[in-house]
Amino acid sequence: MKKESRKVIIAGNWKMNMTPSAAKSAIAETAALVAGKNGCEVVLCVPFVDIAVAVEAAKGTNVKIGAQNVHFEKKGAFTGEISADMLLESGVEYVIVGHSERRQYFGETDETVNKRTRAALDAGLKVILCLGEVLEERQAGITEEIVSMQTKLDLAGIPAEQMKDVIIAYEPVWAIGTGLTATPDQAEEVCAIIRRVVCGLYNNDVAEALTIQYGGSMNDANAAELLAKLDVDGGLIGGASLVPEKFAKIVDAAQA
Ligand code: PEP
Repeated sequence: MKKESRKVIIAGNWKMNMTPSAAKSAIAETAALVAGKNGCEVVLCVPFVDIAVAVEAAKGTNVKIGAQNVHFEKKGAFTGEISADMLLESGVEYVIVGHSERRQYFGETDETVNKRTRAALDAGLKVILCLGEVLEERQAGITEEIVSMQTKLDLAGIPAEQMKDVIIAYEPVWAIGTGLTATPDQAEEVCAIIRRVVCGLYNNDVAEALTIQYGGSMNDANAAELLAKLDVDGGLIGGASLVPEKFAKIVDAAQA
């Protein structure tokens, strides 16, 4: 399979920004700007409390709604958590799992990332699985080992049939929210490593069909160069996704 036949996905991660009223207008604005841009899938991952208005505002547009986390149990005494079934019934199609901020601030481990991924896939959600090295790991020259290990641990026990609903977002932690972007060559190198590891875990067909995004200070100025790389099939965008005009320009860059 060639790069052109893989699904390109541009996803925004709003993080803890936008009240429901702000979300409603931001979705409407974004949807108007990306209307008819069918060269990629457009996803906005919103805070839990915004999901209802976001799903309503996105109806009839080409914007899909995602969540930013999901619990691995189906239901029960897990105060403050949200299950995959709750997300699905609320109209959510995608969920981010394993974002570095969850790993860094909320004790997320590869084991819990794997459990959340499996629960989300079993429920019928599409998962944007985030992984990537921290600065010290890059400086120590162990990026390949780190992302390979994360890929293997995070995908453990997931059958090949479910890989069609998995998107991997390579997000070097040192590039997230810092304004520092990986160079297109750095992004390509690691996305290609991830694809090779997935090939080893499954087979060439699964690896070649897998959408691998780059995330880390992607913006309207650098998106085209990053997205032109052979193994970069989209972007996960934080800061720039909060500004509809900037996000729409990234979607434009993915239309080629
Ligand atoms: C992210 O939140 O996944 C991200 C990549 O953020 P930013 O684009 O702001 O670096």
